[in-house]
Order: sequence, then structure tokens, then C-alpha cells
Amino acid sequence: MAKIAIDLKSGSIKKEDNLIVGIDLGTTNSLVAYIQDEQPVIVRDAEGRSGLVPSLIYFASDTEVMVGDAARSHLVDDPGRTIFSVKRLMGKSFSDLVDYTHQLGYQILQDDKDRLVKIRIGDTFYTPIELSAHILRELKKRVESELDRTVDKAVITVPAYFNDAQRQATRDAGRLAGLDVLRIVNEPTAASLAYGIGLSREDSKTVAVYDLGGGTFDISILRIEDGVFEVIATNGDTFLGGDDLDQAIVSHWKDQFELQINSASEGQVLRLEAERAKKALSASLDFSGHFGSVPVSLSRSEFEVLIQPMIAKTMICCQAAMKDARLDPQSINEVIMVGGSTRIPYVKNTVSQYFGRPVHCEFDPDEVVAAGAAIQADILAGNRKDLLLLDITPLSLGIETVGGLMDVIIPRNTKVPCGYARQYTTSVDGQKNLKIGVFQGERDLVANNRKLAEFILSDIPPMPAGIPKLEIRFQLNADGILQVVAKELRSGTSQSIMVKPQYGIDEEEMGRMLLDSIRHAEEDMQQKALAEARNEGNMMVQSAGKFILQNKAWLSPEEVAQIEDLALQLSNAIEEDSKDIIQTRIESLNAFTTPLAHKALEVHVAGAMKGQAIK
Ligand code: ADP
Ligand code: MG
Repeated sequence: MAKIAIDLKSGSIKKEDNLIVGIDLGTTNSLVAYIQDEQPVIVRDAEGRSGLVPSLIYFASDTEVMVGDAARSHLVDDPGRTIFSVKRLMGKSFSDLVDYTHQLGYQILQDDKDRLVKIRIGDTFYTPIELSAHILRELKKRVESELDRTVDKAVITVPAYFNDAQRQATRDAGRLAGLDVLRIVNEPTAASLAYGIGLSREDSKTVAVYDLGGGTFDISILRIEDGVFEVIATNGDTFLGGDDLDQAIVSHWKDQFELQINSASEGQVLRLEAERAKKALSASLDFSGHFGSVPVSLSRSEFEVLIQPMIAKTMICCQAAMKDARLDPQSINEVIMVGGSTRIPYVKNTVSQYFGRPVHCEFDPDEVVAAGAAIQADILAGNRKDLLLLDITPLSLGIETVGGLMDVIIPRNTKVPCGYARQYTTSVDGQKNLKIGVFQGERDLVANNRKLAEFILSDIPPMPAGIPKLEIRFQLNADGILQVVAKELRSGTSQSIMVKPQYGIDEEEMGRMLLDSIRHAEEDMQQKALAEARNEGNMMVQSAGKFILQNKAWLSPEEVAQIEDLALQLSNAIEEDSKDIIQTRIESLNAFTTPLAHKALEVHVAGAMKGQAIK
């Protein structure tokens, strides 16, 4: 078994095992790469052709899962069990996604709008983390079979605009797939590294990275100084990409050739033909193909007219990013093209014109992020002696939240010094004191991590559960001393403590803690999911009780009895060990109470109006 040895001072993995792979976990396609003879190598399919693994997952049954090309045909024949674009769901709650769910063929749960979403397939509930883990497992398998060895360490890229929750979700997905995620790297940073930009300390540059993928567009402006990459502005459109260009061709053809689409699968066939045309037109000036027995054709100039409005939109985003960065196009030193859709000559020309310089497209634009991730991984592995690594914190630091869960505030491998804050609230009405347990480690339940300190924030003015705003701030200084400050923001009550996180942990123990977190990832996440389902269930039971009390004036005895019965069934499920049963009962209770809650709102509003009308 691989032993993880970390050099505490540099944060690098020791020589014994110096292979860390780089992964581009994309919305449409994912790839894995590694470094050989100082060059990035993209892992390709068995025929040695494409390195792209379509980010598609098909659940033939609960246990039989297909990823990539094998899942593609099921988008048409079994859409409810075929997951695409899971990256869009990472770290998101239902309320983040309301406008989007109707576009998905699969089912997203909407029981608790502010919690992280879950996807229902048959009678099983999956988190986006579990789904992404399937893609990562496939990539891990590919690189392992190419290199004929186990691979358990990776760097994974994310868009520069990903927030903390989205990054954490990506990290967790890696861990669930059996990968120790040494760092989450911004996609534009990886793309710059692939072009060698920022690799030497002297390299001071401002770089624009234009990324047009399958479903999203991003522009990022980076400032690189002393080997440090700073994202100074990002902009983009999360619903604009190659898919929309395909769609434009489809509509055009439908009109021009009067095509009749009689089924979803015919629609899919036409869409694929449109994508084929689009790709062909990146290399040639004309395309001819067919849809069934009808010949279809498109010239490059016709195509350019079709996509002009969409590319113009991306340029407006570029202008907005430049404005935020307070820069004009001439002050950009390098422009890098990323994403399969930047192969289109019209896109390259438009971007090049705006920035007034040739753009970088020497690398395959859909492989450049994975290649850069591999370079970053190689630096972390300590294989590039010329490169200096900044001090990092070797284990995650966080606090205990309801259900004994570890909530990470500073993830491991974060540069020090650093400071992060998060907001929490109380779970009980009138709660005056809050115990804050500070922990170090990678496991999901604090019981499996190392406790560093505990203190009590007292004198919180009594308020209903969920109202107090508690900010917990972690400040880690360059000597590795952690200051934890807890503050109730409404009243200003605060309390702080100093701890020394690494105290008493030797390298061997640290290695064991890291390894444990991967070995137990599956079981940890199940326990975490169960704890979360229980928390959610308890909240539902509580609110059902409150709801009956507040609305007994107009609820029928049958309705009250039904709510009580469903709540009781939920309470019973909470005692058991199945998150799926808890989830199903939450669903049932929710399905019954939602229409009543709407009615309650109407009753209250009508009551309030009446009150006004009298006076
Ligand atoms: P993502 O980063 O969103 O996962 P990719 O960078 O892999 O996506 O880009 C996928 C998109 O690139 C698809 O819409 C695909 O049709 C498009 N694409 C791939 N090759 C070409 C090409 N030669 N010309 C135009 N578009 C292309
Ligand atoms: Mg991409």
C-alpha cells in the first residue's frame, strides 16, 4: 500500500511516491494527465485517440454504472437515469438552480431549498459529489491501466469563479473516488502553466484566459507575479457554449430544409449532425451531410452569421471583465484560448482582434487545462526543484456542526498565512451558549479527527433558532498558530482562543490521518449523508409541529392527523440507519404539506388584508 509522506516544511510529497495526476473535471468532458520526462501526457482511450471522457453517467441499475461514451446513447433512451452537466450542480442548493432544473432529464429534489441538492434515480438519492466521483473513478482507472500502477493523488481544476462550497464538493468527490486531492487549481491558472506562463519567479504578466466549452463561457484575467497567480477579474455566461452553437445550426436547418422531427431520438440525431458540421467547419469551408434521407449543408460563412450574436455576447463579458480589472485590452500580455469551441476560426479571430494580439492556441484547447493541472501536480510532487513552494497547512481545520459533522474552514494545503470566516446559526430556540469545537483532520465526522480546542461563546441574546448570525473566523499565521474568533454579529458578543494545530502530530501520524480519510471516504460520506438526512428530518418534524400549532384554526382534523402521521413515520425513520428511507419520508411529508403551506400563506395574507380594510 502506498504510504503518504509529506514534507512538513515544503508541503510536498516525498520522493518515494512522486506521481500526482492532473484532472480537468469538465461540464462536458473530463480528462486526466500526468508528467513524463518533464512533459504533460494526456491519457487517451484504448485506441490512443481521444483523451476526452464525456462527463456522462448512466445508472443501468443501482450497482451498474457507466461513465463517458458508454453512457451517451442513454441520454435519449433513458434520460431519467443518465446524468449530464453534474458540474453545474456541485455545491449548489435547489434555490440556486430553480431556473435550470427543467432543462435536465433527471430529477432534482426540492425538499429543502437551501441545502445542497440531491438527485433522485429510482429510489436512491445521490449528491452531485457522488456523481462526480463516478467520473473521477473512471479517470483514475484509465490512468492506472495506462501506467500499470495505482494512482491515489491528484490535482483537480475548477473554474476561477467557483466558491468555497463548490471547491469543497470537488475535493470531496476526489476523496470519494479514492484520490487524495492535493490541490484545487483554477482552470485559467492551469491553462497558463501549460503555456509555461508563471513558471519562473521573474515572470510578471497579465493574462486573459478565454474559455468557451460545451455549455459555459468564462473569461478570467490573471495577474502573475513572483510565481503567485491572482485572479483579478472573472466574467462569463454559465449557459453559453458549444451546445448553443449546435442548436443554432439545428434551427437554421429546420427552417431551410423544412425538416420534421418526430421523436426525441430524431432530435438527438439532428443535433449530432449539427455538431459534426460545426466541427468540420473549423477545418474546412463547406460541410455536407444528411438527416435521414434529406441532404443538409452549411458553409463556414453561413455558420459565422449564425453564431455571431453568441460570440458577440462573449465579447461583452470580456469587456466587463476588463472594466472590473481596470485594464484596457492593450495591457494584456498573453491571451490563452481554452475549450473545444475555441477551435472555431471566427472565435479566435474575434478574440484576437479585441485584444489586438495573436492568441495562444498552440495546444489542443480541450487538453490544455488537464496538461496544466499535471504541471501543477508535478510541482507539488517536488519534482521541479527550481520551483519554490509556499508554506501550506498540511491538514484541514474546522469546527463541529450539528450531528457531529466536521465543517472545514481552512482546507489542507491552503497557503499560510491565511484567514477564513464562515457564518452559522443556532438550531434551538432561545439558545444562549454555543460550544465551539475546533478540529484538525480530513474525516467527515469530528469523532474521527483530532480535537484541538473547545470553548464557549456565551451571552448570545435569546432569539429563535436560525436567527442569530454567528461568525467563526480562523486566522492561521505563518508560524502555524491558529486564532479562532467566534462572534454573534447581531449583538456583537465575541470570544476567541489561540491554538497550535500541528502540536504533537508527527509526520507518520499525519500520513496515517490522510490515508485514513481516503480509506474511509465511502463510509464517512455515508455517515455524513445519514447525519445530514437526520438533521433535515428533525427540522421537518419540528416545523410540522409548529405548522399544526399555527394553523389549527383552519386545518381539517384529517389534515392534522395526516401531518402527524407522516411526521411520526419520519421520526421513526430517523431512528433507523437508512438515509434513503429518511429522504423518502421527508418527500412524503413535504408533498403533503407544501400545498397546505401555500394555503396558509393565502389565509394569512387574506387575514392581514381584512385587518387593513376594517380600519
Ligand atoms: P467543457 O470544458 O465544457 O467540458 P470542452 O472544452 O471539452 O468542454 O468543449 C466541448 C465543446 O467543444 C463541445 O460543444 C464541442 O462540440 C466543441 N468542439 C470540440 N471540437 C470542436 C471543433 N473542432 N470545432 C468547434 N467546436 C468543437
Ligand atoms: Mg473546460
